[in-house]
Amino acid sequence: MKHLLFLFFPLFSFAQRQVALTLDDAPVMALPGYYTAPQRKATNEKLLQQITALRTPVSVFINGANCIVPDNQLLLRKWADHPLVTLGSHTLNHPDCAALPLDSFKMEVTINDYIIRAVAKDKPVPYFRFPFNAMGKDSLAQAATIGYLKEKGYTAVPFTVESSDYMFEQVYQEALKKKDLRKAKAIGEAYIRYTLFSFDYFEKLTREVFGRDIPQVYLCHVNQLNADYYTTLVKALQQRGYQCISLQQAMQDKAYGTPLYDHRRYGFSWLFRWIPDAAIRKSHLRNSPEPDKELAVFK
Ligand SMILES: [Zn+2]
Repeated sequence: MKHLLFLFFPLFSFAQRQVALTLDDAPVMALPGYYTAPQRKATNEKLLQQITALRTPVSVFINGANCIVPDNQLLLRKWADHPLVTLGSHTLNHPDCAALPLDSFKMEVTINDYIIRAVAKDKPVPYFRFPFNAMGKDSLAQAATIGYLKEKGYTAVPFTVESSDYMFEQVYQEALKKKDLRKAKAIGEAYIRYTLFSFDYFEKLTREVFGRDIPQVYLCHVNQLNADYYTTLVKALQQRGYQCISLQQAMQDKAYGTPLYDHRRYGFSWLFRWIPDAAIRKSHLRNSPEPDKELAVFK
């Protein structure tokens, strides 16, 4: 009997948390001229190497307009060729889709589809993420955009946790440009600290909304900050009890079938959108994490 207890105990005490890592703006961020070509190449390759070494599945969301030049097309091919990478569309030009007429939205999706498939060949492109997570100006517009995506074979994907990585990236780049490596390191560490703080917040919110843990979907971007801190981030999440899983595995949880109760155009976490009571939702949104304090030190 003693032996049996010993065998079964670990199964109950180490229920693992799960997270799907998702990176937007692959293979390069939308701002033209922000990175030099070698910096772009290094960022993408460094991320891919760590994905291989750590064996973490990831999903990337692609802006086709940035993939027309041959150098960037090559980078896209590297993502497409990687067995742990799932591809998603992120529109052609990264517009705010809540401000677009439906026809222009369709064009953004169709042309992006054409560009990705020209590179990805037979690799499936099952997912779509709206730039800024703006799905449409109201519930009717959102039903139209999501309906169109379904027709094209895309699943529009949510996220549950984010940590404003793009804001940390901005000050990180400024520090690197000034060759202030000590400051850059402090920013990288602040980013990881703030990300773990965000996970802690959204884990608590998850338990409030669902009464249990669910697999989380973390949204960040293909940028140098994440390339430099990917291993640190993954290890820190593993330390927190997380196992990295694919987006497909995460979305199998029935939580992801919860109806949306908030159809505003803003890009906040789906955990808020899944709260039926508007007053409770608003009070949570008011108290959600903001990185301003962490960032103020570096400005
Ligand atoms: Zn984006």
